[in-house]
Amino acid sequence: MDVRFLGGAGEVGRSAILVNDSLLLDYGTKTGTPPQFPVGDVDPDAVVVSHGHLDHVGTVPSLLSGDSRPPIHWTPPTHELALTLARDTLKLHGGSYNCPFTGNDVKRVTEVSETHGYREAFEAAGHEVTFYNAGHIPGSAHVLVDDGDTRLLYTGDFHTADQRLVAGTTARPDADVVICESTYADVEHEDRADVEEQFARSVETTLWEGGTVVVPAFAIGRTQEMMLICEAYDIPCYVDGMGKRVTEMLRQYSEFVRDADALRRAKSHARFVTGRDGQRKRITDQKAAIITTSGMLSGGPAMTYIPEIRSNPVNKVAMTGYQVEGTPGRDLIETGSAEIDGRVMPVSAQVEQYDFSAHADRDGLFEFLESYEDTPVLINHGDRCERFATELRERGFEVDAPRNGPVHAV
Ligand SMILES: [Zn+2]
Repeated sequence: MDVRFLGGAGEVGRSAILVNDSLLLDYGTKTGTPPQFPVGDVDPDAVVVSHGHLDHVGTVPSLLSGDSRPPIHWTPPTHELALTLARDTLKLHGGSYNCPFTGNDVKRVTEVSETHGYREAFEAAGHEVTFYNAGHIPGSAHVLVDDGDTRLLYTGDFHTADQRLVAGTTARPDADVVICESTYADVEHEDRADVEEQFARSVETTLWEGGTVVVPAFAIGRTQEMMLICEAYDIPCYVDGMGKRVTEMLRQYSEFVRDADALRRAKSHARFVTGRDGQRKRITDQKAAIITTSGMLSGGPAMTYIPEIRSNPVNKVAMTGYQVEGTPGRDLIETGSAEIDGRVMPVSAQVEQYDFSAHADRDGLFEFLESYEDTPVLINHGDRCERFATELRERGFEVDAPRNGPVHAV
């Protein structure tokens, strides 16, 4: 089997792996200014997508420009999330060279879409492919690819521990080679229940003091996780941004969430912001949590909320995810001020950060790879792939950290 990384090797973002020059696994976008896309030209016979995050699916519609119509295989939620992200990209960048596809390409996505559940084998470009629940976000999959000689397990993004929205991965299918993500290879997550408890106590304290808490959160997965936590701790909350649409969508796919009833309760507990008649400004003195995009303060309704709440030190901004260097969210944590909507603003409100990660941490990665001790492993999707590979080698693994570009025979 030949494997070629077109993106996501030695980096986080623009994941893309070409198998046997015919089957493409993921085709993502690396966000930034400007955004980056996978390397090289590719014309696959079929596409398989591990999950509906921008760095895995963001560039997929561009594969349907011209005469190419490769079938795209994914779970039903991944299909829906891909469409949501593609439409959002068109809205933000449509027509500019930062957008690698057109509205027509996006329309074709549904024409070529083929959805599959977990553990249902299907055929793609002459390979037998099977999805297994990866426990990262709803619909996320480990992808097992069998070309008749070699079984390749591409982990995609995964989590070994339970989140409220999805349960952790338990699938460890037999494989001859494993491509493993390593986003948090040098991080040990604090116990999730403790993080939740700290978050809830902190928000409650601010609300008792008469303040408002803005909770920046990614639309896909994190917004719903924060809604579930707010419901469990009875914290009054508003929800704004793309996360509203994603929540509605996920309610249609109850078999892909851990507890559909809890999600239903969380949805009725939360109040969705319409944004009409100055509602955003009005709710900033309502003594509630406001869960909103974007998770790194680089756009979305957070651009209205932060300026409104920033000058009162009773208020709080509770970040819920990793902040990439150079984003306003990272600047806010490190310097106490951030460029919001083109204006640098000092923030007197308290700023806190919580680790609600949807990825396996160091222990989780080792726990997962324990099942593959005698299997060659390729490390990707991390900022320090080489270092993690060295550590695994010292533990007796046959392991490599490939680069984008060259073909690897596995
Ligand atoms: Zn992901």
